[in-house]
Amino acid sequence: MVAEQLRPHGVTDERVLEAMASVPREEFLSPRMRRHAYEDRALAIECGQTISQPLVVALMIQAAAPAPQDVALEVGTGSGYAAAVLSRLCREVITIEREPALAEHASETLRRLGFGNVEVAVGDGSAGWPARAPYQVIMVAAAARGVPPALIDQLTDGGRMVIPVATSPEEPQDLRVYLRRGQDVSYRSLFPVLFVPLRTG
Ligand code: SAH
Repeated sequence: MVAEQLRPHGVTDERVLEAMASVPREEFLSPRMRRHAYEDRALAIECGQTISQPLVVALMIQAAAPAPQDVALEVGTGSGYAAAVLSRLCREVITIEREPALAEHASETLRRLGFGNVEVAVGDGSAGWPARAPYQVIMVAAAARGVPPALIDQLTDGGRMVIPVATSPEEPQDLRVYLRRGQDVSYRSLFPVLFVPLRTG
């Protein structure tokens, strides 16, 4: 994965490459999907959802630039895979999932594999998770029509948020990294992506 899928496609941060190498993606898949674990694509998990493509996970984390003391929020736990990788690069990860069955399964997987610094919560992540805010890093794994204001509010001064934004129903989504400086928020576009929709409520 590191040599063939990540390094040649723009993942240059050695810490991110190390974290990707250390997390067994197959453990986050059902037995039926395991033989596909090292293919460079999104794969089906329960509840009609997907585990993201490894390259996309790595590029999102690289863009979010987590530091060892950071607390990160992830919206859209899914299998728990991206949260596991992120947890290797920061102090703590709070990850929110709106499907209770997925949250429970991810939580079990993370516990079994010893990812002790990840907390899985059930809820609508478009409201963020105010109890532990603010966050230096926010990663959103589902596409929003616009950026949820609560998430911007929960970024620290200097905080980074990586989020796929659906600009039109016909077009791929625009993966963006937002940077907050005081009350000022700016973003740059990374590349087009296809994520499942962020479902509110
Ligand atoms: N990061 C995941 C992939 C997530 S797929 C992984 O590594 O496996 C996107 C997930 O976002 C789905 O599980 C979906 O149920 C969840 N989701 C969609 N809308 C949400 C919302 N408003 N709040 C929290 N989770 C949401």
